Amino acid sequence: MVEPRLIVAANRLPVAWDDKTQSWETSPGGLVSALAPVLREKDGIWVGWPGTADEDPGQFEVDDIEMQSISLSEEELDTYYHGFCNGTIWPLYHDAIRSPEFHRHWWKPYQEVNRRFADGVLEVARPGDAIWVHDYQLQLVPEMIREELPGATIGFFLHIPFPPPEIYGRIPWRTELLQGLLGADIVAFQTVSSARNFARCANRYTNATGNTDALRIADRVVVAEAAPISIDTALFEKLGEDPEVAKRGERLVDDLGNPKVMILGVDRLDYSKGIDIRLRALGTLFDRHPELRGEVSFVQVAVPSREDVDAYQDTRRNIEEGVGRLNGRFGTMEWTPVHYLYRSLEREDLVAAYRNADVMLVTPLRDGMNLVAKEYVAARRGIGGVLVLSEFAGAAERFTQAVLVNPYDVDGLATALLDAIHMHEDEASERMSAMRSHLRRWDVHAWARYCLGRLGL
Ligand code: UDP
Repeated sequence: MVEPRLIVAANRLPVAWDDKTQSWETSPGGLVSALAPVLREKDGIWVGWPGTADEDPGQFEVDDIEMQSISLSEEELDTYYHGFCNGTIWPLYHDAIRSPEFHRHWWKPYQEVNRRFADGVLEVARPGDAIWVHDYQLQLVPEMIREELPGATIGFFLHIPFPPPEIYGRIPWRTELLQGLLGADIVAFQTVSSARNFARCANRYTNATGNTDALRIADRVVVAEAAPISIDTALFEKLGEDPEVAKRGERLVDDLGNPKVMILGVDRLDYSKGIDIRLRALGTLFDRHPELRGEVSFVQVAVPSREDVDAYQDTRRNIEEGVGRLNGRFGTMEWTPVHYLYRSLEREDLVAAYRNADVMLVTPLRDGMNLVAKEYVAARRGIGGVLVLSEFAGAAERFTQAVLVNPYDVDGLATALLDAIHMHEDEASERMSAMRSHLRRWDVHAWARYCLGRLGL
């Protein structure tokens, strides 16, 4: 019997072209590092877009992993990717915090690109292989594969939230998208509540009946479940204790003027991250507690993201005005309340920032998981610290020991910040170790093992 292989389908191949070496290199990331050993061991194949319009290197190998490229045109990037994926699905699935746009001329390319991905998988799949489809860009792919390979083992993992029917129901293509997902045997989500939302939507908008344990559709049974993604905990613990990282941390704190308390925010600049409200809460805190002025500094790292989408430009303007307002109002010659970096940091600098942040402020209005929250906890082995975490982040489902907040509530956020600043060291350490032991048990490798086990690998 031929050994079953793993075929991963995701919008992006986990590679980038390196001009210096004139070769493909794997891009660093939790998902690829967790899957790489299995892909190697099982002769797996990763099907995805290589990252540049109209590029099609076909099948190639990087670090002993087989890649199968799917080409996307400039126009498809506009309509399928920026349009349907990031202008329709992204806002809709994040509780419609921004109005999702529904355009029929985006839907058609979404179907076409999904068909191309399904064909890419079918080209390489052999009977018995396990097929694992990832994320909101490829929701139609499971059904498209199922039609051709009725007996295939297909899993789907959604990295972002799945909304309740009251919100989901707005999308004109709600039935088609759900049927696409129901082509899988297992549809996995970041949280239990997303899995439940999916089951409710499937009952309401398709012929499926049943609950998350068993959604019956035609003669098949589909399971919807939570399988929250995690981080490489050991790696972040190790980096957290690296002397080179410690040196970078000292420089960082010196540059900030050695504040008594450093609060940190690290996010992609996205309207779902709640950065503007977070800044207003900080203003409220300085208003109510003048004694904190000069003592507390807030560092916000905002990683540029989707800069050609209008909503992101508005969000950036809002945030930068907020930073300017706070610094103008409260800043002095000796003290800058908010240090704002519009760029991404190298991993060592990021961990150096985590190590020196007394309080980590993670306040998305809605977030699939939020890995930053997990990385902060892992990186601070032995040194306490307080995680202030939005109850609307997937991470909050397990991190009940964080200071949980409603990210829309400016006063509540200000109060939570004050509590965090004044939390007794012992209590902070206890809360952090409880979260850290969860992360040790459930790291990205445990997650991958679990998911692959569900696919029979
Ligand atoms: N990150 C990074 N450099 C930065 C800021 C963030 O490499 O300057 C990484 C961070 O380590 C984390 C990821 O970006 O792994 C962000 O993931 P998260 O789940 O928090 O949010 P997303 O961007 O996926 O919405």
